[in-house]
Amino acid sequence: MSKYDVAVIGSGPGGYVAAIRCAQLGMKTALIEKYSSLGGTCLNVGCIPSKALLDSSHHYDDAVKHFEEHGIEIPGEVKVNLEKMIERKLSVVNQTVDGIKFLMNKNNIDVFEGVGSFKDETHINIKKSDGETEVLEAKNSIIATGSKPANLPFIKLDKEKIITSTEALELKEIPEHLIVIGGGVIGLELGQVYMRLGAKVSVVEYMDSIIPTMDAALAKELTRSLKKQGMKFYVSHQVNSVERNGDEVVVKAKDKKDKEVEFKGDYCLVSVGRKPYTEGLNAEAAGVKIDDRGRVEVNARLQTSAKNIYAIGDVIKGPMLAHKASEEGTLVAEVIAGQKPHIDYNLIPGVVYTWPEVAAVGKTEEQLKEEGVKYKEGKFPMRALGRSRASGDIDGMVKILSDEATDEVLGVHMIGARVADLIAEAVTAMEFRASAEDISRMSHAHPTYAEAVKEAALAATDNRPIHS
Ligand code: FAD
Ligand code: NAD
Repeated sequence: MSKYDVAVIGSGPGGYVAAIRCAQLGMKTALIEKYSSLGGTCLNVGCIPSKALLDSSHHYDDAVKHFEEHGIEIPGEVKVNLEKMIERKLSVVNQTVDGIKFLMNKNNIDVFEGVGSFKDETHINIKKSDGETEVLEAKNSIIATGSKPANLPFIKLDKEKIITSTEALELKEIPEHLIVIGGGVIGLELGQVYMRLGAKVSVVEYMDSIIPTMDAALAKELTRSLKKQGMKFYVSHQVNSVERNGDEVVVKAKDKKDKEVEFKGDYCLVSVGRKPYTEGLNAEAAGVKIDDRGRVEVNARLQTSAKNIYAIGDVIKGPMLAHKASEEGTLVAEVIAGQKPHIDYNLIPGVVYTWPEVAAVGKTEEQLKEEGVKYKEGKFPMRALGRSRASGDIDGMVKILSDEATDEVLGVHMIGARVADLIAEAVTAMEFRASAEDISRMSHAHPTYAEAVKEAALAATDNRPIHS
């Protein structure tokens, strides 16, 4: 029987990063993954493939709608070859997955393909696809088994017409009318992909706005921008039935006034969240407690109810984000090595990769109000930037919230071109507890979208933006 200092179960951005950090710290490490392809949800059916399709569809949208204004003429019709677009996405995924394989070899991590299941606290059975079982002994284990799409109890996902994000990443045809249930991150990102390719897209959302957990100003601006691009929104609508009728899907929902509204389309994407995944893990055999929401219970050191077993990523509490899972993977490796690492969960940024992009870190205005914190607000519109006018991406704004008394930055909320990248500046500033004035006095290259951050900081400091 092979013996390890650490066995990691699950090879997503939580698990593979944890494995690398353990190996870097000198531990003999095993990584167990049930699929032949490493990288988990993020690399195979999540972050990477969705961004590949967002980028491809963005190119098409630009060619159809914006090239002409830039003086670029394309003789003949611009056409989408969906098969090729999906093939390219697959090749991006394959290259990325191969990169993880390379990193496992480079760090001398032993990779086992099969379902990992606890025999007891220090032994893990690995059930392979050929039915064989191998047993590992591990002083410590890290559960990084991730999540799966959630569903509503009355929906029968046929995975052909009533689909989750996984199927939406490899459709064989462009829907005529895609009904999206849930105006969260997945619904909006994948909804925008198919809207750009020519589908009518209707988003049916239960709450009174899309991206309801983000600052309300972002939802307002994103709704406006996506509506302008053609997306239809039905907020405050509670879906209560989804039926397939031949090639048609019929979705029924109750609006605010309790009136029934019916949507007919050819595809329905169910994107109402994800649920932690612990099936087959046999956690109880190791004394690992699962909470009433299906998550593995952990303490502040991400240790489970079994002292030598830790859990990270989507399978525990907190936002289901790849970079959150990776930070936790690093933290656990360092805890096992006897170090005292720390994660500031308030500083984990959230991003929506629609266009305009949406990005945020820290407290929302709604949270500050609820907590009774007195704050100042500085806002700057993207349309006032030379860079935005040059590219034609004028939608959006940057909003900085800082403490009324100390000027410390408490939250940064952005929508616009490339804000997924700009948010890193806000994270850095907040990590070092910068004031809005600190940011406003830093030189920002001209012309860049980043100048909006400086201007919003000037506005928050003492309402003195230069360009608005
Ligand atoms: P996962 O990535 O889910 O990996 C878990 C792995 O464990 C899987 O490979 C699974 O096969 C394996 N496993 C499970 N049980 C066992 C077992 N018993 N034995 C062996 N192996 C097992 N997040 C972002 O931050 N940015 C994005 O842009 C983004 N886009 C997304 C787009 C989509 C469409 C989706 C669905 C998700 C997206 N996410 C994004 C979320 C992100 O993918 C997850 O937060 C992230 O993958 C979680 O990482 P993880 O390591 O916890 O789990
Ligand atoms: P989500 O939580 O972002 O959004 C789900 C939406 O569905 C919410 O707005 C919710 O109010 C709505 N909803 C729930 N029940 C409903 C009902 N009965 N009728 C209508 N609407 C309903 O979840 P998601 O979009 O499925 O994404 C799952 C997870 O994946 C998220 O936690 C997210 O963190 C992660 N993800 C992240 C990214 C990114 O970082 N860019 C991209 C995709 C996914």
